[in-house]
Amino acid sequence: MSKEQSRILLGVIAYLSLVFYVFGLAGTGSIQDPVLAPAPALSPALSPATEILCFNLESKILRESDTNLGCSIDEASLGDSPINHGDIRPNVLNPVFEVRFLAAQEAAKAAGFEIRITSGYRSQALQEKLFADAIKKYGSEEEASKWVLPKDISHHPWGTAIDVNYPGDKTAVKWLEDNGSLFGLCRVYENEWWHFEPVIAPGDTCPAMMVNALESLEGLPTSANDSN
Ligand SMILES: [Zn+2]
Repeated sequence: MSKEQSRILLGVIAYLSLVFYVFGLAGTGSIQDPVLAPAPALSPALSPATEILCFNLESKILRESDTNLGCSIDEASLGDSPINHGDIRPNVLNPVFEVRFLAAQEAAKAAGFEIRITSGYRSQALQEKLFADAIKKYGSEEEASKWVLPKDISHHPWGTAIDVNYPGDKTAVKWLEDNGSLFGLCRVYENEWWHFEPVIAPGDTCPAMMVNALESLEGLPTSANDSN
């Protein structure tokens, strides 16, 4: 490179440096921002929608919608996932679970079956009493746990378990066993035809039933299961 070429090159570099410096200062707002601004969030219409069921508590009409469109103000959603309890103890049945049951109850009625909740949310005090009664009846905590779980573990005090028509019309409850998955409701124990939980999303398949409630204690970090 000749001296002349070097001078020209240095001149160009100096010029460009000045240009970048000036534009760099001036452009901190108006020029750079459009480039650096975060991409706008996808509009709801572009994000994937999950099908949901909406139940009108007044008219008792059940219809399909999706998670983008949602349910109308007059409707309650049946949700799009299994219903698990949180950390805070409730004092009522889980409200989405209740909507699921009410929608199922209406469908059962249309099919000629009457189903109703005979035991839903229970206080921990009541569950404790029921468990103590069961120990007297069955002779040990282990035997009792096949029918009634301790208050800390049972899903009734968490508002995520219901007993349907017990003791009563077992035939109508078979309808719920066969059709409950459409509403996200499953019978979970082989020895309790009346006990249902919202363990799936509406429309999914219910898991295989456990033999009894004692089986649900396996693997839990608790001393409630004598057999562990
Ligand atoms: Zn139960």
